[in-house]
Amino acid sequence: MSYKNFPMVPRVIYGRGSFNQLDEIISPKRRNSDAPFIFLVDDVFKGNAWLTSRITLSYDDNIIYISADEEPKTSQIDELVEHIILNNKQKPSGIIGIGGGTILDIAKAVSIMLTNDGNTSDYQGWDLVKNPAVYHVGIPTISGTGAEVSRTTVLTGPKLKLGINSDYTPFDQVILDPELTKDVPKNQWFYTGMDCFIHCIESLNGSYINAFSQSYGEKAFDLCKEIFINNTLSKEDSQDKLMMASWHGGMSIAYSQVGVAHALSYGLSYVLGTKHGIGNCIVFEHLEEFYPNGVQLFKLMKEKHNIKLPRGICAELTEEQFDTMITVALSLEPLWENALGKDWKKRITYYSLKALYQKM
Ligand code: NAD
Ligand code: ZN
Repeated sequence: MSYKNFPMVPRVIYGRGSFNQLDEIISPKRRNSDAPFIFLVDDVFKGNAWLTSRITLSYDDNIIYISADEEPKTSQIDELVEHIILNNKQKPSGIIGIGGGTILDIAKAVSIMLTNDGNTSDYQGWDLVKNPAVYHVGIPTISGTGAEVSRTTVLTGPKLKLGINSDYTPFDQVILDPELTKDVPKNQWFYTGMDCFIHCIESLNGSYINAFSQSYGEKAFDLCKEIFINNTLSKEDSQDKLMMASWHGGMSIAYSQVGVAHALSYGLSYVLGTKHGIGNCIVFEHLEEFYPNGVQLFKLMKEKHNIKLPRGICAELTEEQFDTMITVALSLEPLWENALGKDWKKRITYYSLKALYQKM
């Protein structure tokens, strides 16, 4: 038996207003005046002086605003990297991602592709990255995905939706400032928060579970219940706790895996472009047979917060689309093995997945 030796985020600063310290944190990492810091910022913050006035631009530093309307694609990373190389005298001193899971994943991928040749899609998979990435900093503005702490960056490529899982993927520095999440719209708060809840359910109920994952998963699970069920927290406490739940949920799956909801939601996303948070919610409602208690709690939380999920999203799919969706979902073998054990193929077939998708 050989155990995996994982890197972790080596530096993290936590606290309301800690974002104000960004400049003092990154300044020592500037190599010289020709090697800029590039800030990749969710375009929801364009014109938002409360946030952007705290980004100090020196020398050739620049901000690139990026839309999070669609999840990141490998082609998008290739274009961004080319843009950065063409428009700067030297390789950047650092990439700073400010946004949700979408922007954090883009920041990780760009920092890897600045030091590795070829196309981004060449590196989708496990441990394919050869050279260390450019210094990269993650600053989440919405909580739940765990992307701020994970060893992957999830990208849609020409063939698959698959992460770049590598020792060079985790951020060198994370800034956890819960105040940055104060304007997240309620539905989005719920969808991304449920990503964390579902990470816990899948990790805690999986066959890969161990004391390491369990300790983080249980903490995140308890925090989620406090935030989404008990409803006694102040706004600030709720923001603080969800940011830490996201962190713990991410740590929990580092040493285990996600499960059925993520496998099915990747299929939805690949064919229909359904975003991760809402896609997980749409899928999870129908997974009583796999996660009876988790689904019951989920329904309670959905009701408490008066969330209405879309229905019938697979009603008009062609056979070909179903085929692609099911192929993508089934290809995620570690997720199925974690969820159902080594014999998962005895329980899951093409047709059982089709029946599930047809309910959505
Ligand atoms: P997101 O980044 O897609 O953002 C969702 C929406 O919220 C966007 O419209 C965005 O503009 C908006 N938003 C973000 N912060 C805001 C703020 N402070 N105020 C107002 N609006 C704000 O959402 P997400 O759910 O955090 O990320 C989903 C992505 O994360 C997916 O691409 C998924 O694949 C990825 N993901 C990655 C990992 C990982 O480990 N790398 C894990 C889970 C999910
Ligand atoms: Zn997730």
